Amino acid sequence: MFNKSRREFIKKGGAGLALATLTPMVTARVFSSAPESDRRVLVIGAGLAGLSCAYELKQAGFDVILLEARTRPGGRVRTYRDPFADGLYAEMGAEYVDSSDTYARKYCKKFGLEVLTAKLYDGIFVRGKRYSMKDFKDNKQTLPFEGAEPGKLFANERKYIEHWFEKIEDINDLPKEVLELDKISVAQLLRKEKAPRDIVDLYTYTNATESTIRPDQANALGFVLGHYRASGFNEDTDEGRILGGNDQLPKRFAQEVSDSIMYGKPVRRISMGKKVVEVGFEDGGKISTISSPRIVIAMPFSILRKVRIDNEFPADKMKCIRELQYGHVMKFAMQFKQRFWDKPGSLGQRVFSDTPLRRIYHFSIDQPGPRGILLTFTSAEDAQKLGKLSKVNRMKRAREVVSGMWSEAETYWENGTVKYWNEDPFMQGSYSTSGVGHSKGFKDIAGRQEGIAHFAGEHTVAASMNGAIKSGVRASEEVKKAVGV
Ligand SMILES: Cc1cc2nc3c(=O)[nH]c(=O)nc-3n(C[C@H](O)[C@H](O)[C@H](O)COP(=O)(O)OP(=O)(O)OC[C@H]3O[C@@H](n4cnc5c(N)ncnc54)[C@H](O)[C@@H]3O)c2cc1C
Repeated sequence: MFNKSRREFIKKGGAGLALATLTPMVTARVFSSAPESDRRVLVIGAGLAGLSCAYELKQAGFDVILLEARTRPGGRVRTYRDPFADGLYAEMGAEYVDSSDTYARKYCKKFGLEVLTAKLYDGIFVRGKRYSMKDFKDNKQTLPFEGAEPGKLFANERKYIEHWFEKIEDINDLPKEVLELDKISVAQLLRKEKAPRDIVDLYTYTNATESTIRPDQANALGFVLGHYRASGFNEDTDEGRILGGNDQLPKRFAQEVSDSIMYGKPVRRISMGKKVVEVGFEDGGKISTISSPRIVIAMPFSILRKVRIDNEFPADKMKCIRELQYGHVMKFAMQFKQRFWDKPGSLGQRVFSDTPLRRIYHFSIDQPGPRGILLTFTSAEDAQKLGKLSKVNRMKRAREVVSGMWSEAETYWENGTVKYWNEDPFMQGSYSTSGVGHSKGFKDIAGRQEGIAHFAGEHTVAASMNGAIKSGVRASEEVKKAVGV
């Protein structure tokens, strides 16, 4: 049985398998507890979901092995320090801890990490026009987009869909008519509601950090429910972040579970059984295996869909693993010798734009000057287009855009770096979003326990650090319940 599945594994192959398939499979380090112990748990992925799950399980006395493909913890929490001078750093992955992020805040507090409030947006740069946020709001200026209301940057699309709210009495028991919205995209719905093309364009930019897909890929049901709950991002959203760098949070978790983590071990095969799961992973040029009575899969579905799964999960779970939608995201961090954006007459230090860079803002507010870092958040088709360029040309384009907004930028330019998450081998995307036909039930399916397999990760709850931790804690509770702890 074991040999047959290994042959199939080799025949079907998979990402990065060429070297591994040349060498024999060996059984790797085993759990420290006895083989008959039901307290052994294998966790895959040392992002915040896997780390928080492993942490909670270890606290409860479980024997945990955590397999991680990279040589560092944190996954999409990625703080770059090296390319910058004077102790500056930049968040190339997750950035904001919102005021409602109770899980992220709870663990920050536990580990003695302070959450800093970021500065709010103070500039707008769209269709070549500049606005200070204050003037824009005070004087009720109107954006050069047909259908935009005076003094209003966010949610200009809302008035076209408000009549749908009247049909919703109980959000947990939606009428058929509303549920049907799952079948169409945001762009289709807005067109149906006679919103001008400009409103769809404006929505694309104001929604740039919330959704990293195009409006014609986004689910209209999720869009209407988001507006109904009034949960969208806006210029007053309190965007905190961890003082000294977000990487401190996964690193603190990792320290606590340090003896359990095996780094540089990409999982390539998962063979599910009713009582035992066997996992094959790359281990220094060979494939090693570990067997465990229980597994928590906390890796993104964008990568899990490339892992060979023997004895597949139920059809709806496999559909979800294969089809769950991820967007495109790219961040640039640029170091300048002076913080010209703070000078009088500047467009601002934190700017909304419809340029390919989308959001451009002073990141180093809590870091020593005079040097400073501008960070950008580029998503959806703009990230995709920039991603087709070489790294040199991507940066050239970013510098051009920044120079168009602040004339002094080239004078003070020193250094820059870019991270495109869609070319990251262990992510290949941004974060999960609802595609057309993938209503909110999709996340429930993604997170549903399947026998001895549990699932964690932002894709099972909400695309955030908070969501990842929440899912890890939830999976640890499921495991405890399953073994009667
Ligand atoms: C550019 C960007 C900006 C973001 N901004 C914010 C923000 O401002 N605020 C916020 O709260 N969230 C933000 N997020 C989302 C946030 O980063 C994620 O929701 C969260 O970090 C996901 O955690 P996770 O544990 O689910 O997944 P991940 O962090 O992706 O962790 C999964 C782990 O699995 C590992 N893995 C993958 N394949 C394998 C394999 N084959 N074998 C073993 N291990 C494997 C990966 O290396 C990784 O370490 C952002 C994300 C990105 C990319």
